[in-house]
Amino acid sequence: MLDVCLLGTGGMMPLPRRALTALMTRFNGSSLLIDCGEGTQVAIREKGWSVNPIDIICFTHYHGDHISGLPGLLLSMGNADRTEPLTMIGPKGLRKVVDSLRIIAPGLPFDIIYREIEANEQSFTMAGYELEAFRVDHSVPCFGYSIVIPRIGRFSVDNAKALGIPVNLWGILQKGEKVIYEGKEYTPDMVLGPARKGIKVTYCTDTRPADIISKKAEGADLFICEGMYGEEDKANKAKENKHMMFTEAAELAKKAGVSKMWLTHYSPSLVRPEQYMDEVRAVFGEAYPGKDRMSVTLGFDDE
Ligand SMILES: [Zn+2]
Ligand SMILES: [Zn+2]
Repeated sequence: MLDVCLLGTGGMMPLPRRALTALMTRFNGSSLLIDCGEGTQVAIREKGWSVNPIDIICFTHYHGDHISGLPGLLLSMGNADRTEPLTMIGPKGLRKVVDSLRIIAPGLPFDIIYREIEANEQSFTMAGYELEAFRVDHSVPCFGYSIVIPRIGRFSVDNAKALGIPVNLWGILQKGEKVIYEGKEYTPDMVLGPARKGIKVTYCTDTRPADIISKKAEGADLFICEGMYGEEDKANKAKENKHMMFTEAAELAKKAGVSKMWLTHYSPSLVRPEQYMDEVRAVFGEAYPGKDRMSVTLGFDDE
């Protein structure tokens, strides 16, 4: 099971009733955060989730509305006596940006591991998550992320029996690990069918529409995408500022064949995102205006 929470839906600045856009997921006791603007730790608390199990923080880019909340979050994690290392992933310059912010958050009781993204597309595997970062089209280097929880193939009791594999090894092979027993090696492929569909969430904010987005979001259970403006007369502004219209996000969702799309990163000038949803749904039916702290629990298909 993967818990997913859109912590906020605002772009540019936090508003009294709209926190800045950030995503948090929980899987198997390990939490992941994407982006950390001003007030993100407040949004986490308002949701009732904890900052302590955050093992990974990914950054889309280093505009203030996506990272200025980091020093406060780190201090809170330190106050909670975290000692396990924290991994950060982000575009080039990650260590420099974080070190600068850490002037006001020195002496943390845990290490930070920096993973700078070095290519336009890069994968990371950690804490049960498979992460795929992909370069999008914003005014500064910016990346979208797909979060995948892979699922191994079905265990075949018939194969295990036919091959004479001792029953006490079945559990190990079922986890996808190989084992050597009484001088013989047993591998998962002997008893597991083809990999099954896992869980996939794609998160993408601060960008113009781009082919890479629909390619990387393909088949996602949930696609969280920026929509800075709903009003048709803002199309030029969206282009100039390297952001998207709601309907442009919907086109990407349709092309990617995702199950569901949530919009986020609204302009502070956009008061009621709901009022533009008819046009959005004319393009892609399963589109919803994101709301602060909106969440869902995604399971494997037959769970
Ligand atoms: Zn932004
Ligand atoms: Zn930006």
